[in-house]
Amino acid sequence: MKIAFIGLGNMGGGMAANLVKAGHEVRAFDLSEAALAAAREAGCATFGTAKEACAGAEAVVSMLPNGAIVKAVYWDDVIGHAPEGAILLDCSTIDVATAREVISVTEQHGYQMVDAPVSGGIAAANGGTLTFMVGGSDEAFARAQPILAAMGKAVIHAGAAGNGQAAKICNNMLLAIHMIGTCEAFAMAEKLGLDAQTFYDISSVSSGQCWSMTSYCPVPGVGPVTPADNGYQGGFAAGLMLKDLKLAMEAAAGAGATVELGEHARAIYEAFAAENAATDFSGIIRTL
Ligand code: NAD
Repeated sequence: MKIAFIGLGNMGGGMAANLVKAGHEVRAFDLSEAALAAAREAGCATFGTAKEACAGAEAVVSMLPNGAIVKAVYWDDVIGHAPEGAILLDCSTIDVATAREVISVTEQHGYQMVDAPVSGGIAAANGGTLTFMVGGSDEAFARAQPILAAMGKAVIHAGAAGNGQAAKICNNMLLAIHMIGTCEAFAMAEKLGLDAQTFYDISSVSSGQCWSMTSYCPVPGVGPVTPADNGYQGGFAAGLMLKDLKLAMEAAAGAGATVELGEHARAIYEAFAAENAATDFSGIIRTL
């Protein structure tokens, strides 16, 4: 299949390479020359503009930094340039309202489109083990599914347009809250004279158990190997967690949802990311 890929950064670079490995003809575009060179190395054809990349493509995949850029790219470079009837897949993490607007407008122009944000970081993007949460019609999902499956280990239909983004921000808000809670519990245990490994052994088989503790333990040397064992580097950056929490708070305000802990988590990550945007989000334990 001829697939245009727009946005070949930390995530998109590996995803485009996996589409090549799956036998697709990938027509790549990014504003960065270095990203284009890496894409060529991975077997993609590269183009000087997104419009040229979209010409003749049966599908368009985008992996871009934010909603404003996604909107600009679809308005200026995809609509009217990708052939009518192409399936469009935006895998960026953006706000729910923009995702719904872009899908609605592209559909009015004769395309089918899904929002398909991912769970999993750069290693999962490179390894083809991302989880995709997909919003869109049944028909659009059926067309997008095999393309996404070439880049991930799980592709889940979350419902109508925008529901992929809704699933992503609800999940990451919960993750932020239980990571902060896990860090507070370990820090308090230490102050009370309780050894971290002993607390882990007890809590990991008790009612306090959660993913932040048993799969992503914020204490070095306890539980499985995590970014804590690597100086809090190489995982999910606090700056990206803050981005997702801001999107979550925006969506909550629009939907009238009560998110007191989510709002508190946003404030905590905002303060942390001001100095530590590139640090793994579990590094918050250092501030307690
Ligand atoms: P990145 O900044 O590394 O990559 C974004 C790429 O988009 C860059 O190469 C940039 O040059 C390109 N770009 C920007 N504007 C463009 C335009 N108008 N046309 C073409 N290319 C353009 O970011 P990333 O880490 O790859 O993240 C991409 C998306 O994935 C974001 O929405 C992010 O929130 C989401 N995400 C990232 C991670 C992660 O661990 N990095 C995990 C899950 C989701």
